[in-house]
Amino acid sequence: MPLINQSIIDNLFQFASRMLARSGDGDKHTVAASIYASDGVIYSGVNVFHFTGGPCAEIVALARLISDSDAKPLVIIAVADSDRGVISPCGRCRQMLTDYCPEIQVILKIEGELEARPLTELLPFGYVRSGRPAVSRRI
Ligand SMILES: [Zn+2]
Repeated sequence: MPLINQSIIDNLFQFASRMLARSGDGDKHTVAASIYASDGVIYSGVNVFHFTGGPCAEIVALARLISDSDAKPLVIIAVADSDRGVISPCGRCRQMLTDYCPEIQVILKIEGELEARPLTELLPFGYVRSGRPAVSRRI
C-alpha cells in the first residue's frame, strides 16, 4: 500500500477546502472531495445535489480522475461546509469506491487528527459484483 504522508494529507485538505470555498453554495454544493492519484495530480469535485440522487463530491472527483487520466486513485478526502470539516464517505460512496478503487485510502478525522485509513476498514464486508474479485476482508 502506498505511503501517504502528512504533506499529502495536508495538500488534499487544502485543495478540497479551497474548492468548497470557491464552489460551495450552502444548498446544492455542500461538500468537496479531492483525490491524490498515482500521477501526482490532485483531482477534485463538489457534490451535485439533486432530489433524484445527484452524485456526492467523492464520485465527482473520481469521475474527473477517470475522465482525465489513467492514474490510480491513492487517497481521498471529503470536506463539508457548515463547519463540519472532514467527513466520512456515505454508504453509496463506500460501495462505489470499493468497486472502482478498492485499494484507495480514505482520510478521516480521528480524535482531532487527519489519518489515512484503508477503504476496507470502512466497508469490511462490501458487496462484490459478479465477475469481480472479492476485495473485502475481515479486519
Ligand atoms: Zn457519498
